[in-house]
Amino acid sequence: MTDTSIQSLLSHFPADAPLVPVVNPSTGKRIFDLPQLSADQVKEAFAKARAFAPAWSATPAKERQAVLTRMHDLMLKNETKLLDVLQLETGKSRAHAFEEFAGAAGAARYYGRKAAKFLKNSPTRAGVPVITKTWVEYQSLGVVGIITPWNYPMALANLDVLPALAAGNAVVQKADNQTALTSLFCRMLAIEAGLPAAAWTIVVGDGAEVGNAVTDNCDYVAFTGSTATGRKVAERAAARLIGFSLELGGKNPMIVLPSAKLDQAAELAIAGGFGSAGQLCVSIERVYVENSRKAEFLKILAAKVESLIIGKSSDFSVDIGSLTSANQLARVSGFIDNAVKDGATLVAGGKALPEHGPYFYAPTVLTDVAHDAPAGCLEVFGPVLVVFGYDSVDEAVTLANDTELGLNASVVGKESEAIRIASRLNAGSVNVNEGFRASFASMDSPMGGMKQSGKGRRNGRAGIIRFTDQRTVGVAASWLRLPSRGRHYNRMAPLMRLLSKILNRIG
Ligand code: NAD
Repeated sequence: MTDTSIQSLLSHFPADAPLVPVVNPSTGKRIFDLPQLSADQVKEAFAKARAFAPAWSATPAKERQAVLTRMHDLMLKNETKLLDVLQLETGKSRAHAFEEFAGAAGAARYYGRKAAKFLKNSPTRAGVPVITKTWVEYQSLGVVGIITPWNYPMALANLDVLPALAAGNAVVQKADNQTALTSLFCRMLAIEAGLPAAAWTIVVGDGAEVGNAVTDNCDYVAFTGSTATGRKVAERAAARLIGFSLELGGKNPMIVLPSAKLDQAAELAIAGGFGSAGQLCVSIERVYVENSRKAEFLKILAAKVESLIIGKSSDFSVDIGSLTSANQLARVSGFIDNAVKDGATLVAGGKALPEHGPYFYAPTVLTDVAHDAPAGCLEVFGPVLVVFGYDSVDEAVTLANDTELGLNASVVGKESEAIRIASRLNAGSVNVNEGFRASFASMDSPMGGMKQSGKGRRNGRAGIIRFTDQRTVGVAASWLRLPSRGRHYNRMAPLMRLLSKILNRIG
């Protein structure tokens, strides 16, 4: 990406804002300086979005959704540039960038086809058939605030921003400082596809200052990030009685059943655990294997992990890219060093790889970790698989569920058995013979977390309806008056009793 095109994207921000450098994680070199907005500037951005919102809300839903269909095509046309900017800011491999790109384009395609249908008035069963009729209307909320992290900037922008726009809202998105360019690029394509520029504003700056200003000024906040920050956002939103959805962290388990082929399970653990160098909310971090096969599984897994190609490349020749920041490198190596100090066995990896770039870290497999030790129960958010043993499948299910988090889970083995086990796992998605991609790729399926992993769901019908207020309209037939005086019930009450009996019979 040229300096001129970067500066053109950055011109979205006020010219007088102070600057912070943004670093390319693969090289450690400064790419550009990013303006940092103040809370007052965010407030101003909301005022402008609010002034524009009624015009966008009045635009027919079909016209709004057509913008997304055109945006989808523009994304495909600009695939190379989108992948380049994603890799530039996140350091992920080309393959993982492509996976994200495919998800982001899928969101534009899905809501581009379905939004208007989801937003159509929906008839409901009347309380008194024939005499009354009812339906629900979906009204846009006004200005939706969307707060996104740095790990999946393209997919997360599209998964939340696009349905909020399609529902007729203006959007103010707080992008993470590290990945604002990717969001700006998506916004530019949306504008090229026909979105009025005022409908989607991006703000950046200090997480707490700008994040709080978003929650304080919006009509609904969709937050994606850590459980700790999500709790703060929820408290702030609750004080204002605005709606919110939270997509938070995970400590996602994979159960390898006795019926599983170990080679296939190890390959799935790698694909499920090391996507975007493990910096993925739904990625697998815990693997449960029966004790009698654990040693064999570790041997197979270690050999596969050691054969992964690490590095930077703008083609699909590399398996795993860099971590995204110095903070991430410190976080991941801290978890691993402490686990090893506490007696964990390092089966593979366990070291930084500065020969590739400043934040590269080797994909790592640990075992002999206590289930309640930090590496065993807290989200590492890096390329680390911790392997535990189990004696019975019931024990594996209990251990998999023994966490405050419940975002994603995986079961590997004979399909019919794995599907039965899936229903016993307390997670918002469970993937059978896959790590996360089977559920993650389905835009029609709700995505979100149980327990401390979130509130609400994105994707599907629920993913757009959350950005609306619902109005029930009830109409009474003009040819019959509903009773207004006590004495009218002498005739009405027996009729209602009879009707109730009939309705209960016929269903
Ligand atoms: P984070 O919570 O530190 O930050 C997320 C976003 O919130 C950033 O834009 C940040 O600047 C902003 N922020 C910081 N303080 C804020 C505040 N007080 N109010 C409002 N916003 C504030 O998370 P992170 O480290 O950037 O992202 C990694 C986390 O996100 C992991 O826990 C991961 O599992 C989670 N995540 C979840 C999903 C999901 O769909 N469930 C997807 C991606 C990432």
